[in-house]
Amino acid sequence: MIALEKVSLTVDELEAVRLKDLKGLDQEEAAVTMKVSQPTFHRILESAHHKIADGLVKGKAIRIEGGDYMIWKGERLFKCCDCQSRWKEPFGTARPVNCPKCKGTNIHRAAQDRGHVRASRKVGARLET
Ligand SMILES: [Zn+2]
Repeated sequence: MIALEKVSLTVDELEAVRLKDLKGLDQEEAAVTMKVSQPTFHRILESAHHKIADGLVKGKAIRIEGGDYMIWKGERLFKCCDCQSRWKEPFGTARPVNCPKCKGTNIHRAAQDRGHVRASRKVGARLET
């Protein structure tokens, strides 16, 4: 079996790239969003860019490893006010009109879940497969 060489990005590095390169935040905004100092953010981003470049140029697999930051989970949490059931819908889908349990229409977006989840080693492992 031939194992592909890997470069491992931490969740922090992935988040730095997402904020700076994908969302287009400036370094100051991105640092504030990640609750780190600007020099720290700069260091994380540099490291991420180096790893991504290494992976692209040398054809290595890029995987994500656990870090200590929140990552976007891509889910919205809804709550039914009739039967109190809660469920999740992925982003990009239409807002549900009926509760999947009682078919009631008295449903609300649950405010305490903003789609963020604490990143863990488990998340890294799942992204890798
Ligand atoms: Zn219900």
